Amino acid sequence: MEGQPRLPFCFFAMLEFCSMEISSLVTSLRNTMSSHPRTAFLTGAGISTASGIPDFRGKEGIAYASRHYGMRYESLISHSTLMSKPEVFYDFYWSRMVYPNAKPNAAHLAIAAYRGENAVLTQNIDGLHQKAGSKNVIELHGTTAKYSCLSCGRSYSLSEIRHDGVPHCPSCGGVLRPDVVLYEEPLDYSALEAARDIISSAEVLIVVGTSLNVYPAAGLIYEFRGRTKAIVNLEATPLDSYFDLAIHGPAEEILPEVLG
Ligand code: NAD
Repeated sequence: MEGQPRLPFCFFAMLEFCSMEISSLVTSLRNTMSSHPRTAFLTGAGISTASGIPDFRGKEGIAYASRHYGMRYESLISHSTLMSKPEVFYDFYWSRMVYPNAKPNAAHLAIAAYRGENAVLTQNIDGLHQKAGSKNVIELHGTTAKYSCLSCGRSYSLSEIRHDGVPHCPSCGGVLRPDVVLYEEPLDYSALEAARDIISSAEVLIVVGTSLNVYPAAGLIYEFRGRTKAIVNLEATPLDSYFDLAIHGPAEEILPEVLG
């Protein structure tokens, strides 16, 4: 132990207590899920960090935006920056928001393999739930897989356009935009309504990997009328007390245990 910081005995006792508490919470949620109740999964950036996609709160998100561009993340990926400074918007977009080679991790796969009736409502734009095999997915914030022309409205897939600089419409030369909901833009009304219906009729709600800071997606949790609501997140969120079970740990380890 020479040269190592000394930690009081109670620190180790606390660690042991925390891991015991987590395992009993996991067991409790696992028991709930064993009868395959109708479940709504609400997911955020944290479910994809194990696939190599940085989350929003981490140092690659907010801090990177201010370090490299002197701008807040929210203004960098806003509608007005796309319209007024498309080269700045796309410089950040291609380097930090598009991960075409990312693969689903054990958390996406566990959800896709869940045998009960279910739907995934995701704030993510990475398409990993669909790649994992989930069929019923609502992308509340859109997707990086599709683009449309700001001049003529034609649509393109990611594979049809250049992945650097400002992409232009092969047909009319107009600037393309990603089918992602940018800051200053409303969410798609029908997607939001469908998400509300799914949550309000679910028996179980499992929220995964989100700081629950981005509205209106975060507000969807209040539509839940079922019997058990749980959150699985690496760290505590301001809304943990709303849930019956708050499990703090990596989703890629916890979800396979809970749903397997
Ligand atoms: P967020 O970054 O605000 O919060 C992510 C949360 O996930 C954090 O609380 C963090 O502790 C937790 N987390 C990180 N790794 C985890 C892991 N392995 N297991 C469990 N939890 C983990 O993300 P948000 O709440 O989704 O809001 C950010 C916004 O940015 C969303 O609108 C989203 O569309 C967008 N975004 C999407 C992606 C993506 O598509 N993968 C990535 C970054 C940001």
